[in-house]
Amino acid sequence: MAVALTDELEQMKTMIKSFVDNEVEPYAQQIEDEDAIPPHLIEKAKELGLFGISIPEEYGGIGLNTVGKVAVLEQLGRTHNGYVSLISAHTGIGSTGIVKLGSEYLKQKYLPDMASGKKIAAFALSEPGAGSDATNISTQAEKRGNEWVLNGTKHFITNAPVADVFTVFAVTDKEKGAKGGITAFLVERDFPGLIVGKKDKKMGLRGSYTAQVIFENCIVPEENVIGEVGMGYMNALRILGEGRVGLAARAVGSCDKLIELSASYANERVQFGQPIAVNQGIQWMLADMATETEAARALTMMAAEKIDAGEKVIKEAAMAKLYASEVFNKVADKALQIHGGIGYIAEYPVERFYRDARITQIYEGTNEIQRVIIARKILAGD
Ligand SMILES: Cc1cc2nc3c(=O)[nH]c(=O)nc-3n(C[C@H](O)[C@H](O)[C@H](O)COP(=O)(O)OP(=O)(O)OC[C@H]3O[C@@H](n4cnc5c(N)ncnc54)[C@H](O)[C@@H]3O)c2cc1C
Repeated sequence: MAVALTDELEQMKTMIKSFVDNEVEPYAQQIEDEDAIPPHLIEKAKELGLFGISIPEEYGGIGLNTVGKVAVLEQLGRTHNGYVSLISAHTGIGSTGIVKLGSEYLKQKYLPDMASGKKIAAFALSEPGAGSDATNISTQAEKRGNEWVLNGTKHFITNAPVADVFTVFAVTDKEKGAKGGITAFLVERDFPGLIVGKKDKKMGLRGSYTAQVIFENCIVPEENVIGEVGMGYMNALRILGEGRVGLAARAVGSCDKLIELSASYANERVQFGQPIAVNQGIQWMLADMATETEAARALTMMAAEKIDAGEKVIKEAAMAKLYASEVFNKVADKALQIHGGIGYIAEYPVERFYRDARITQIYEGTNEIQRVIIARKILAGD
């Protein structure tokens, strides 16, 4: 089912494609080498409004619906995944809690600076003892007067080393646990007792940083509760559900880029006196890459449309994330094969996409967990 985009959105897509292909991609190798994003690329993302794509216009953002966000994230996925991770963790899981569930006070206080990119957002759910089983988090929040006092450790938090605001999940009622005993909080980096650990060394996503976030008697004002007290686990699932559609969109965009690179290389590279593209062995790889990418795109757009129609998409978002991330890994593998030895050399983009693809099967819920979610829905007759 092809979704018709508005003229305005088509123009935005074209503009972002040109930006990532012509202005970001030339710096991709530098980002790899230095594990840092050139500041001018962050400034340009701010100018283009990319930090505010999911924030309503009344709070200074562009206020795209989910179909619009998917269209934009697909284009961003064409370039360096570390660069895109910084932006999408902010616009996705970092912002969704406040946008969808936050009080008017929180929206007015934080969203304008988040929309402009002045304040960078992060989402802190995972802990050393609670990854796939987020019901088992142990970070505690205790109410003292008008404040909450947080203690515990989160880990692998994307953007933590550069973030100004964190959506943090903590246990507020141990007895109730995930069923009414977890609450989401908006915690500022400068609140006393919030400590960011050292950057993790990762396989890929250079320039996008993750780190531990430690709370030592961290004081959070009462008004910084996101949504209802006790509803944090349900809120986390909702935020992650929408985030998964964005992740799928980025994966589809990366596949588009890998197919273009592979087709172009296959047409140019001559072996046995002719371009390797004349071999059916190469053509079949390209055909499978393109077919599966289109299927992933359709699944992702279907989930996005349902979100915009106000439907529950727990199953569809899991399917989009699961399928698009697996296609991304398969496409990256075939792209590397088509490029032969050059595909393995770090100066060429395929090697980077190959490494960056791997994490998409793990974060925002591993693909095993996506299968569990999908199967549960099927078995329940949903
Ligand atoms: C680069 C990076 C960025 C991240 N960013 C964030 C972030 O911004 N915020 C955040 O909160 N977290 C973040 N994470 C954490 C990420 O979401 C978790 O790593 C992920 O959810 C998996 O948890 P885990 O690593 O503890 O693995 P585990 O839960 O320990 O899983 C280990 C293995 O067991 C499998 N498994 C577990 N339970 C089951 C089951 N019931 N059935 C079948 N298989 C199962 C898993 O699928 C996996 O293969 C990030 C992680 C990384 C590496």
